[in-house]
Amino acid sequence: MKSLDRREFLTRVAGGTSALAAVGIHAPGRAEASGARGTPGVDGRAARPAAGLADPALRPLPLGSIRPRGWLGRQLRIQADGLSGHLDEFWPDVASSQWFGGDAEGWERAPYWMDGVVALAWTLDDEGLKGKVSEHVDQIVRAQRADGRYGPVAASTGSRPYDVWAVFLANKMLVQYHEATGDDRVLRAVEASLRELGTGMEDTPLFDWGKYRWFEGLVATYYVYERTGEPWLLDLARMMRDQGTDYPAIYAGESITSPTPRRGRWTWDKHVVNTAMALKAGALSWRLDQQHADRDFPALMLSILDRYHGQVTGMFTGDECLAGRNPIQGTELCSVVECMYSLETLAAVFGEPAWADRLERVAFNALPATFKPDMWAHQYDQQVNQVQCTINPDAMWTTNGPDSNIYGLAPNYGCCTSNMHQGWPKLAAHLWMATPDDGLAAVAYAPSEASFRSHDVPVKVTLDTDYPFRETLDIEVRPERAVTFPLLLRVPGWADGASVRVAGGAPETMRAGTLHRLERRWGAGPTTVEVRLPMRPRVTVRYNDAIAVERGPLVYSLGLDETWTRVRADAPQRGLPHGDFEVRPASDWNYGLVLDPESPEDGLSFEERPVGERPFSPEGAGVRARVRGRKMPDWKIEHGWAGEIAPGRRSSTEPLEEVELIPYGCTNVRVTEFPRLEA
Ligand SMILES: [Zn+2]
Repeated sequence: MKSLDRREFLTRVAGGTSALAAVGIHAPGRAEASGARGTPGVDGRAARPAAGLADPALRPLPLGSIRPRGWLGRQLRIQADGLSGHLDEFWPDVASSQWFGGDAEGWERAPYWMDGVVALAWTLDDEGLKGKVSEHVDQIVRAQRADGRYGPVAASTGSRPYDVWAVFLANKMLVQYHEATGDDRVLRAVEASLRELGTGMEDTPLFDWGKYRWFEGLVATYYVYERTGEPWLLDLARMMRDQGTDYPAIYAGESITSPTPRRGRWTWDKHVVNTAMALKAGALSWRLDQQHADRDFPALMLSILDRYHGQVTGMFTGDECLAGRNPIQGTELCSVVECMYSLETLAAVFGEPAWADRLERVAFNALPATFKPDMWAHQYDQQVNQVQCTINPDAMWTTNGPDSNIYGLAPNYGCCTSNMHQGWPKLAAHLWMATPDDGLAAVAYAPSEASFRSHDVPVKVTLDTDYPFRETLDIEVRPERAVTFPLLLRVPGWADGASVRVAGGAPETMRAGTLHRLERRWGAGPTTVEVRLPMRPRVTVRYNDAIAVERGPLVYSLGLDETWTRVRADAPQRGLPHGDFEVRPASDWNYGLVLDPESPEDGLSFEERPVGERPFSPEGAGVRARVRGRKMPDWKIEHGWAGEIAPGRRSSTEPLEEVELIPYGCTNVRVTEFPRLEA
């Protein structure tokens, strides 16, 4: 991955040149059309400031318009049958939340849980979950005070001023609920809340979490503005921005580039969840006044993060603050799901396919890896080289505690327990988006069905595929009657040689890193669109010259035999299978690999297997790689973790063996960055 030097970053921020292409977050930047027709892509249209707020290049379909199929359907069902669908039945901070009239935590936890479960319930069309969520929304709206404030304010703050972050979050959740249900009472409640926020912010400017997460307040503010056209809402949005943290100023400084020292100091600026959320700040701010610097900053921010803290999963470390590139530092689950939501927002607002490339990389690697395959337990921190997950008093996190990488109900701290739910359902809800000219864009790929209207004609589009474990996508377009519209297909930056075949015709090539535009009159019957995205292996050089194997959007890891041990006396309640677990390796993990980054195909072969009932589990891995390696006896456990890899090419006199790798997302313990061996 190329990086700019810091002077060049700052020049580009100041100069307003799009930096996305230059930093190569995988693709040439702006959406471009490819193919014979040569018509401009979505970004070829100038943003049209619609009554003061620029339209996004692509607009997510209303919640509930996209249904999962195939492996994604199984994954969402696993989630609903796991912690997500049951947390409110037994975990006090949601079950007895002050938001619901109880006496437990009353700030961010219940709204976090609902923010994911609203999307899960309506994406799955699960009546039971929808009923639960609706009851809780009723409780919140009924308890709203006459002045518009809701939430258990007095009880949770005493005499201190109230940090409005949790209200930003609740509003962001409630507008999703409104979008899914059309319940006008909820829209009015959010509008009243926003009025009250504005009044309060005149007396008490944003501070702490509200200040660092100011842009989260814009999500609901824009949603209500687009439905009411009330100009005061844009004044409120500007006030949030004016009172909020200036991230470009932070990223122009040097402090952001150094890892937080192990067992070092916690800082707001380098807090990993703030960082993941703030990736979208430029996109949201850009909609207000279309400043070039806002358009360019997210790519600059991400390239700085990649360069100094980046991981092969597409994430950056933070355990709990940005922690450098070493693959044994941790990445918090909250930052994974927030990064995904930021990337979904960036892909929509700017219509640039590279953002969706990155979204898939995070979604298909970092997200599933950090859950027990049944989604009844999760980690706080995942490691790219994670050979054991134990309660480890010798852990070398920056500020997190000894149990941060065990799989459990609430290891280290309960934020991830409440915030983890949005990952999969919001990905599903952003797979397809509407184009400004009544068409549809395939933004990210997973088996799904989208319903939308083009020129008032209802259209269903289905995608059957085992992507990302396969290279082929079978799309079927079925309008109720014949209609002309564009179908935009994202061609990932890695997909050289991609092709598409419409209605059994001749294959057409598509250019990598573009949105390929198919504009035609779609007949009333089904029309097939067959897409092939060739996945060539890549061997990338990482921290201390270690190497990693990638192919398409997937990263590959040495999967280990595992021993799971239940720890602590956390007796499952109500017969539910939650709990805390340590995982230890039951096979050798200390291998170096014989691979050449210059000719990655030499010595690497891939084999397809059926995608399992649990798609992201060691036994369910839908593809495996074989490679040659040798054990490295001097690579040992240090501080309870895999030792740090020494720089440079390495050698080993152990016998050459064939080693099997599986997708990172399918592993629970693993090695992903390997010492590179002399051939
Ligand atoms: Zn968290």
